[in-house]
Amino acid sequence: MSTAVRPASFDRTHTDDLIAFLSASPSPFHAVASAAERLEKAGFRRVAETDAWDASAGGRYVVRGGALIAWYVPEGAGPETPFRVVGTHTDSPNLRVKPVPDTGSAGWRQVAVEIYGGVPLNTWLDRDLGLSGRLALRDGSVTLVQLDEPLLRVPQLAIHLDRQVNDGMKLDKQRHLTPIWGLGKVTEGSLIEYVAERAGLAASDVIGWDLMTHDVQPPAYLGKDRELLAAPRLDNLLSVHAGTAALAAVAAAGGELGCIPVLAAFDHEETGSESDTGAQGPLLGNVLERSVYARGGTPEDRARALAGTVCLSSDMGHAVHPNYTERHEPGHQPMPNGGPILKVNVNNRYATDALGRAVFTAACEKAGVPWQTFVSNNSMPCGTTIGPITAARLGITTVDCGIAALSMHSARELCGADDPYLLAAALKAFLEG
Ligand code: ZN
Repeated sequence: MSTAVRPASFDRTHTDDLIAFLSASPSPFHAVASAAERLEKAGFRRVAETDAWDASAGGRYVVRGGALIAWYVPEGAGPETPFRVVGTHTDSPNLRVKPVPDTGSAGWRQVAVEIYGGVPLNTWLDRDLGLSGRLALRDGSVTLVQLDEPLLRVPQLAIHLDRQVNDGMKLDKQRHLTPIWGLGKVTEGSLIEYVAERAGLAASDVIGWDLMTHDVQPPAYLGKDRELLAAPRLDNLLSVHAGTAALAAVAAAGGELGCIPVLAAFDHEETGSESDTGAQGPLLGNVLERSVYARGGTPEDRARALAGTVCLSSDMGHAVHPNYTERHEPGHQPMPNGGPILKVNVNNRYATDALGRAVFTAACEKAGVPWQTFVSNNSMPCGTTIGPITAARLGITTVDCGIAALSMHSARELCGADDPYLLAAALKAFLEG
């Protein structure tokens, strides 16, 4: 473990901004817009993948659906200058609207949903749910929609009708997760009509949509001393937010760097990353390569740049659970507010090795933040993330890190309120090279 000491009196400005980020980002598309807004404020400009890119210094970013890649070219960077990449993901497990959404039963109007990612189903019961996502319009444009009031609810069966519920709840994914959203006759097209109207559009103009539900309860500081943060989508918007803040801070400091700092925020991590906006796709590789070529680089420069590149993949990890300590590795029990965690798995569920550990600890030491290590109990399967995928896809040194949390993938997760800032400070030190 590290020897750095957590600051005694802690400024919550960073965590307050994370709360605003989470509230404004119920879908991956919104998360990308929230990150872009902060990057624009820091002087980054958006470039289109279809445009020719130039060699000038400064910050820029690319958006594709629910993914964003941002990078800052410092003065004096050459085509062979290596990259330092913070890797994250924008998606979270949730309930998403099916193509024919209007359904119902026994006089109730309901919305058909499909389960996205590894959802602990019980955590979505009896929550007041809003709707968000993107609408594809007839004129070829896309618009974001965010309805934050209680619209839907997956009601739990009363205990009087299921006396065995506390012996182990069984939920059928098809029958028991369909939210209600009113009373009366089911009318085909009414959900999209409603969403279109709320977005100020004619329903006939909406010809495609990616819509999903979210808990409308706002994030909150929790505990006697308010040292914890209860919020949805900490996995992994906490890292997206920290990476955005870190990159913006490096760009604001300016000056010469030995690397080109990059933020990669991928979509579809929760379903295996295999998409055009996921870590298995070519998006990050294309951006890095085009950045080399825009500075007049050759294939040899590209190879040299990638050979010196390091990716720090940041995603949520498990804090030790006080009610289930036996599920954790006794010698590796990360705690909230203990600083970022280094994730290790010798079977390559995490990409960290000795060299990666050295990069991570150097960044934490430089930033003066404490850090911890995570390894799973041998009798528990270990999760994975975009780290090993990025390492394999691009052949670059990759390290997996994150923040310790309870209730990962729940509709409402829990972490330390100081950790978001500590992670951002470590990521900034890493991005400085
Ligand atoms: Zn995650």
